[in-house]
Amino acid sequence: MEGLNMIDKKEKISFENTEVAFASKTNTDLKRAYWMFKIVASNSMVNIGTVLTRVALAIKFPINWLVKPTIFNHFCGGEDIEDCSASIEQLSTFGIGTILDFSVEGKHEEKNLDATAQEVIKTTHKAKGNSKIPFCVFKVTGVARFDLLQKISSEAELNENEKEEYKRVIDRVDLICKNAFEANTPLLIDAEESWIQQAIDNIAYSMMAKYNKKEAIIYNTLQLYRHDRLAFYKKSVEKAKTNGYLMGMKLVRGAYMEKERERATENKYENPIQPNKEASDRDFNKALEFSIQNIDFVSICAGTHNEKSTLYLTELMDKAAISKDDKRIYFAQLLGMSDHISFNLSQQGYNVAKYMPYGPVKEVMPYLIRRAKENTSVKGQTGRELGLIKKELKRRKL
Ligand SMILES: Cc1cc2nc3c(=O)[nH]c(=O)nc-3n(C[C@H](O)[C@H](O)[C@H](O)COP(=O)(O)OP(=O)(O)OC[C@H]3O[C@@H](n4cnc5c(N)ncnc54)[C@H](O)[C@@H]3O)c2cc1C
Repeated sequence: MEGLNMIDKKEKISFENTEVAFASKTNTDLKRAYWMFKIVASNSMVNIGTVLTRVALAIKFPINWLVKPTIFNHFCGGEDIEDCSASIEQLSTFGIGTILDFSVEGKHEEKNLDATAQEVIKTTHKAKGNSKIPFCVFKVTGVARFDLLQKISSEAELNENEKEEYKRVIDRVDLICKNAFEANTPLLIDAEESWIQQAIDNIAYSMMAKYNKKEAIIYNTLQLYRHDRLAFYKKSVEKAKTNGYLMGMKLVRGAYMEKERERATENKYENPIQPNKEASDRDFNKALEFSIQNIDFVSICAGTHNEKSTLYLTELMDKAAISKDDKRIYFAQLLGMSDHISFNLSQQGYNVAKYMPYGPVKEVMPYLIRRAKENTSVKGQTGRELGLIKKELKRRKL
């Protein structure tokens, strides 16, 4: 990994300690997780499961009894905010924060978009003065119609109705940001498909200009699997410096790779995705370096399950003499994944938080299907989760 060799490795943090990694898991939890990842690791099982789930949803066959005690309980905090309390408390016992993520997707009607905005606002209220909830988060597609964002990103002229609609979107986002600002809780804006990302970036930067004068409250997200993003990041930071606001940035590799490639091929435009995994890894780590070099202007949240990048950030911090609990630097993972990273980082004194998706089981299904598919396609990830769970089961003599 680029740059790693230049850094003193004496104090390298280890992610191998499974006793720490699974300290919050009972024996039953651990066995359930083992079987769940075993099933998820099988491509055909996930494909069959996905089809059956879609059919069940279409014919309104109740699936809660199957999904809730298994995959839902593993990856989600609950069906509503209050349901999440036990998981929030449990994580906080181990020094890990929660990022409440209302995971209802794919709604288009204005009343649903308003309702989602209100729910995100509820999370800011829950976070106010609560150190167990260091961030809030939302997706712009939760409060805006996808096709509208696509039209804006294509730079086509909006008609009068669309202009009105866009104004309502900005009002919703502004209200969420204002509530986060008043709760003094940083707010992450997730990144999405490249063909709507321009509109999301525009909204995110206008909110930063408004709310990030003294502290980074609004965070945009940078997907380093896109080959143009590192240069874009550098330009954005220059712009923030010139205009007198601070930059908040969540750094991720990116979640829509297959979809991006397919669309680019189908519509015959240049693929926005890096040529290979190494290029994504390289740019992710360069973005970490750039952030540390500009830490007086930039606050980051490293959203990753990659051990090498995580380790690299701890080493960059060490080299720059930045304290482990400096609030400008956070590490984040998804609930139910990479506990060996989250728990070991937290035990060493770093700032760590987990995304905790929540929502009615039926509504959260698209999120769960994505997790299942991700854990199948990213074979290394499932293998790693299973290997660690097996190691811990053996250590507990189970
Ligand atoms: C807290 C958190 C928040 C997140 N928020 C977002 C978000 O807002 N938007 C979003 O899009 N994603 C988001 N993600 C998902 C993230 O983008 C990744 O999909 C996921 O975390 C896996 O990447 P990784 O860094 O953990 O590392 P790894 O497992 O090492 O990397 C896997 C990733 O590398 C990239 N990759 C794999 N193969 C190739 C290839 N052949 N060529 C180029 N690149 C390749 C892909 O991005 C793939 O997901 C988030 C993840 C976390 C943990």
